[in-house]
Amino acid sequence: MSRWRVAAAWCCAPLLAGAQPLDLARHRLVDLTHEVSERGPAWPGSRTPFKLDTLTATATTAMFRLQLNEHFGTHLDAPRHASGAGWTNEQIPLDRLVVPVVVIDVTRQAATDRDYALTPADVAAHEAQHGRIPRGSAVLLRTGWARFWGDDTRYFGAATAGGRTVLHFPSFGVEAARLLATDRGAALLGVDAPSTDIGAAPSFAVHAILGAANVPALENLADLSALPATGATLLALPIKTTGGSGGPVRVVALVPR
Ligand SMILES: [Zn+2]
Repeated sequence: MSRWRVAAAWCCAPLLAGAQPLDLARHRLVDLTHEVSERGPAWPGSRTPFKLDTLTATATTAMFRLQLNEHFGTHLDAPRHASGAGWTNEQIPLDRLVVPVVVIDVTRQAATDRDYALTPADVAAHEAQHGRIPRGSAVLLRTGWARFWGDDTRYFGAATAGGRTVLHFPSFGVEAARLLATDRGAALLGVDAPSTDIGAAPSFAVHAILGAANVPALENLADLSALPATGATLLALPIKTTGGSGGPVRVVALVPR
């Protein structure tokens, strides 16, 4: 416990404003990570996104060899994913990954429009109800898409028209992403859907904004319904590969009881 306090005091000053040590007994731990397995779902067209070879598996010992696309399952996009100058995995400071979390809920909009893209008006409506998003927050977008995990057809919404396949799932809109990443100074963005750009987006414009602003992102988050709009703390700790553009991440929220 004392070790945790030292680390927390060093990395997360805004989190501990008022110098209250983090009391884990007063928090629920909520896992926001999907299981990583061959069941995927993998981004359409990705090659060998997941492979677990058995090196040995007996009644008493086991060891496997894991081959994984960085951008598979619940994962972090390092800013380098969309910017030549952005941080790679090992360069992202811990104070970007252990942060207060704000949840913006667009499940109602996305339920009737699977191409729904978060707007600045949605951010304004959220702030009118819950207060201005503090600098250094993780801003997670709840679309409700986690309920389709395991059903690739609904999760990605792939549809072919005119010989061209377009995906259909909700996420951030370009202007809202710019507002959050630059004006609000978000530590990171995250979404319970396959990408920070909507499936039908003509380009990865949100990715480009986040890369240019050096803001990491979380994709394929699990169900966010247990999180309050404000007041929880996020721990999103990715694999620390040297030079990585992203990778698997265990995401946990500490929700006040
Ligand atoms: Zn990614």
